[in-house]
Amino acid sequence: MDPTVPTIPTAARYVIVGAGVHGLSTAWHLATELRARGLGDGSEVLVLDKTAIGAGASGVACGVIRNNYFQPAMRRLMAHSVAVWESDPEAFSYHGVGYIQAAPDAMHDDVVQIHAEQQAIGYESVLVEGVEACRDYMREIFSDWQAPGVSVILHEKRGGYANNVASLRGLADKVRAAGATILTGVTVTGLRLTGDRVDAVETDAGTIACEHLVAAVGPWIRDLWSMLGMPSTITVRTPEGGEVPDAPMWTYWALQEGILGVDPQEFTDNHGRFPPVVHVDSDSPLYDDVDGELITDEIWGIYYKPDFHFGGVQGGASPEPVGRPADTVAVDPYGPASPEFVVGTDFVRMWTSALAACHKRFEGRRDVYRREPSGGLGAFTPDSFPVFDGVRGNAYVIADSNHGYKMIGVGALVARELLGEPQDLLAPFRLARYGRGELHPTSHSPFPWS
Ligand SMILES: Cc1cc2nc3c(=O)[nH]c(=O)nc-3n(C[C@H](O)[C@H](O)[C@H](O)COP(=O)(O)OP(=O)(O)OC[C@H]3O[C@@H](n4cnc5c(N)ncnc54)[C@H](O)[C@@H]3O)c2cc1C
Repeated sequence: MDPTVPTIPTAARYVIVGAGVHGLSTAWHLATELRARGLGDGSEVLVLDKTAIGAGASGVACGVIRNNYFQPAMRRLMAHSVAVWESDPEAFSYHGVGYIQAAPDAMHDDVVQIHAEQQAIGYESVLVEGVEACRDYMREIFSDWQAPGVSVILHEKRGGYANNVASLRGLADKVRAAGATILTGVTVTGLRLTGDRVDAVETDAGTIACEHLVAAVGPWIRDLWSMLGMPSTITVRTPEGGEVPDAPMWTYWALQEGILGVDPQEFTDNHGRFPPVVHVDSDSPLYDDVDGELITDEIWGIYYKPDFHFGGVQGGASPEPVGRPADTVAVDPYGPASPEFVVGTDFVRMWTSALAACHKRFEGRRDVYRREPSGGLGAFTPDSFPVFDGVRGNAYVIADSNHGYKMIGVGALVARELLGEPQDLLAPFRLARYGRGELHPTSHSPFPWS
């Protein structure tokens, strides 16, 4: 017997494919619910991952946890997830430092609306309006703040960031403690479908009969989607009555992130404390911090935080569409070696210049930019918002459109849906919304996920 091939069971009631944040959270909550309801002892839940715990997007995510969304349904869902992060900060390596969005006039009304709606759901945040008031507010936190073109600020007092791999280990411990099993090194290669049901999961280590399948495979969703016999294009209707007949179901974007190799202690607030995660959008021209050349006179945006794991300041900028049909994009190897998302010199120039534009302390520091396993691919849906839905009689898809490290609570809701209890918080994320034109509202942010 080949010792490198794990021994797999021949059957499991629930097979969850993917040991990222969604697969693990679903397994933890499902096993816990089964026990609590006297429906099992948790061992009915099996998680399979082709590589390892956190081998996908969850293990490279910047780890930012925010509520800041223009879409009410996203905000409600994020508020639910933040509560899960807060439930065990130690296990999840969660730092509740808060989150600041600084934005230009063009986004003023969106930000004001987000603040008002956060107050309505009891999510604590502070709104600051006007160029001078914004500068004063930020200088109370960072004495060297100098970002141009900021006239509105939303400071969320909850949220912050978590350390990606550490949080997944914490989640995996909870999965095992609830009685479920995680098997790594097992690749799902196909699904055995009878009529509208998945009977069995075919893997490179053998076949596992199942009663329920959950696909939580992050950027590999294209492959599981195809195994489920789902179409690669769909009809998308817009709320205004327009129709796109053959919209690609999945589109790949390259997430651009990097690290400025300064001592993370250099990026504390005026009181020496860890600052909130900062996200700046600006429509002021951005100039190269080294040669003074114009980089862009269009709206730009960056985010950043001190990071002790990477030993620097980690963050990113707006992602770039890969610009090729999804079926031609190689998601493996998932890591910085993939040509799809090697961070280019344009990103380094833009991000370091933008950091310098925001804080005097980062001026002239491009020389300490470090290339690390940071950045990656995201599979986006037609409207760039998640699909959480049962797509076959017994198959459930968790496709978060790359919003999802922060959405650690989605697994709790999915677990209840698997037990036959539809969840209001997930209702706006069904696949049928595309055919009905029930799309989420779009904002003026330069990011496809805000
Ligand atoms: C660079 C980057 C930065 C990000 N930053 C943030 C952030 O700051 N905040 C935030 O909220 N979100 C962020 N995201 C998005 C977030 O990381 C993802 O939305 C989320 O982690 C997806 O989780 P998942 O569990 O669906 O998938 P993943 O974490 O990708 O897990 C999927 C797992 O499925 C396994 N798998 C795939 N195919 C198979 C198969 N056939 N058989 C068996 N196993 C399989 C993979 O090995 C993998 O471990 C970022 C994403 C990227 C790429």
